Amino acid sequence: MRKSTYRLYVLCLSCVLFLLFPGSSALGKGIQPEAVKGILDLSAWNGEHDGLKNLDGEWEFYWNHLLTPADFTGSLDSAAPYAPAYALVPKVWEGQESGGQALSNQGYATYRLRIHTAAADNGTSMALYVPSVATAYQLWINGELAAANGKVGTSKETMDPANFPKPVFFHLQGSETEIVIQVSNFVQRKGGLWESFRMGVSKDVMVSREKEIAFQLLMIGSLFTMGLYHIGLFLARRKDKSPLFFGCFALGMGFRAMVTGPTLITYLFPHIAWEFQVHLEYLSVVVALLMLIMFSYSRYPGEMHRKVRDWFVLALAAYSLFVLLTPASIYTYSMLAFQVVSVLAICYVIYVSIRAYLRKREGASLNMAAVLVLLVLVLNDILFYNHIVATGDLMQLGMVFYVFMESVNLSHQFSKSFARVESMSAQLLEWNELLEVKVEERTEALEQSNTSIQAINQELVKMEQSRRHLLSNISHELGTPLTLIQGYVKAVLDRIDEDNHDRYLRLTYEKTVILDRIISDLFELSKFESGKIRFDCQAVDAVAFFRSLFDKLELPIKQEGHSFAYIDKADSLADKQLIVWIDVVRIEQVVMNLLFNAQKFTSVSGSIHLIIENYGSLEKGNLGLRVKVSDTGNGIDDDDLPFVFDRFYRGRESHKSRSAGTGLGLAICKEIIEHHGGTIDVESKAGIGSTFTITLPAMVDMEGEADV
Ligand code: ADP
Repeated sequence: MRKSTYRLYVLCLSCVLFLLFPGSSALGKGIQPEAVKGILDLSAWNGEHDGLKNLDGEWEFYWNHLLTPADFTGSLDSAAPYAPAYALVPKVWEGQESGGQALSNQGYATYRLRIHTAAADNGTSMALYVPSVATAYQLWINGELAAANGKVGTSKETMDPANFPKPVFFHLQGSETEIVIQVSNFVQRKGGLWESFRMGVSKDVMVSREKEIAFQLLMIGSLFTMGLYHIGLFLARRKDKSPLFFGCFALGMGFRAMVTGPTLITYLFPHIAWEFQVHLEYLSVVVALLMLIMFSYSRYPGEMHRKVRDWFVLALAAYSLFVLLTPASIYTYSMLAFQVVSVLAICYVIYVSIRAYLRKREGASLNMAAVLVLLVLVLNDILFYNHIVATGDLMQLGMVFYVFMESVNLSHQFSKSFARVESMSAQLLEWNELLEVKVEERTEALEQSNTSIQAINQELVKMEQSRRHLLSNISHELGTPLTLIQGYVKAVLDRIDEDNHDRYLRLTYEKTVILDRIISDLFELSKFESGKIRFDCQAVDAVAFFRSLFDKLELPIKQEGHSFAYIDKADSLADKQLIVWIDVVRIEQVVMNLLFNAQKFTSVSGSIHLIIENYGSLEKGNLGLRVKVSDTGNGIDDDDLPFVFDRFYRGRESHKSRSAGTGLGLAICKEIIEHHGGTIDVESKAGIGSTFTITLPAMVDMEGEADV
């Protein structure tokens, strides 16, 4: 949530909380008339229009007497059997006097109030809202017993305390209404009518009561929800204890709200013991305060002194034990001491909040705002209870507001943490993906380099083998003629076999010619291998080219006595020219090599053929030209067949032949054809003949632009 949105949200919810508060209805109503000497004059008051009226002021008061309406005999104006004293309501007994005697909160008494109303209101259905009375009462209205709470008695043993604010209904009879109420207290610090009685038409009292209950339920519901929610948060993530302390603080306040005000706990558990109820009232607030200190420390450990925290915790823990182990008649007297500790603790929490705010700690400004609102409401209550303002008791609302603000604060911290976690996870995911891609890339590169290293290794091994092979071949191929030359030259020098000297010289010459050929062939081959030979390729009409080649070689081949024929099978392309992309000089070199081999290994009665044909189709993209040189010569043994394209391979026939070859011709042919993207192969049967087949990729010339 953005900061501004979130502040707006807090403001709106705060307004809703304030508007819901029932006490706000009291705003601006001013100070109302009070009872004087036991009589409250409400003749100018109209219940229908003026709303509820607090029956505050001086009530007739009979200390240590439990009187009934019958004791006030005769007419309503007649005096009671005892001289009346007057006590202030709402106010506890302590601090008041009766017959010059200072009162204690322990004792019993009878209150009496006569209310004068307008004669015109006679018969109106009214209700009296009887608040919390300390600590048991019996109430009569116009002589009739109207309500009781607990059992009034003259000693601790004879009385039963109870606390349950409730409305009592009656009808106005004439212009005076008499309220008589017996009260006794021997069980706690407070005694007497310490809260305001309210009177009004029945409907208004009920509405006010319902509003009060609804508000209280809302408060309790909110406090419990916030409390349990934060405890749940803590259980899910125990590292940070601040939600636990905060949750317990909110729950403490929630329990307190159940036993104060309209004491909703008595609705849920009508037979709940008064003693237990008071225990809960005290314990809940002590625990809440303890949790507030812990919470404040967990949020701002740098701003709160650990030792001060420990002292407060120790004091509050000891006090809660004291409350737990002693009866209300004892621990309620310690209220003042507890209040001092509470004020000190709250002041210290405020001090910590201010320090955190000044040091710009996370969430400190919202915390400060909550504390300030709480302070204003505390101030309001002081003014309200001193009758300076008529705003009502806003303390409880302040507490809920504080809890709510802190709740929002914590949620804000959580959502910020979540946002941080979310962005970190997104970043991590991104990094992860990036890493995966990188790993894949690296693996691929590694694999590739592995494969290329392997390929290079294989190539190197092959090259090394071929180098060794070549070297041994070269030394052999060059060595043999050189040895022969040595022999011939030696014979001539030593004048041995002088008649054959001419022959020796001729043989020497022949051998040097062969050596020259070998060296030039080797040189050419090495140039092919190293890619140093440039091929000058062009589009050529295949049929025309091979036909012209045949024409060129026909005579020299036929002169030797062989029959030589040209067979053109490339007729399936109809009128279209079959085009090959070739270096004409090199292809001519290949074909001539094949034809001269055929001539060399075929007897003069044999025949030689040059055949051309096309294969594949243009549509399939595999159109090609096949050139075959076949002869009916010696053929090649099956064992020799795989090696004919190797360097320096020569068949037995070749060795016998006078015009011995170099054994490099076919290797050169292979290099040239492969450079053209074609293949060269041989099929042969010893004694029947051989067929060398060249394939070359071809295309069809649509526009007739090929060179012929
Ligand atoms: P050479 O110079 O020895 O002919 P080549 O590389 O051209 O070298 O041929 C290698 C070997 O292949 C020859 O020595 C021969 O044994 C065999 N050969 C090549 N062409 C034919 C053929 N048409 N008929 C029979 N054997 C052949």
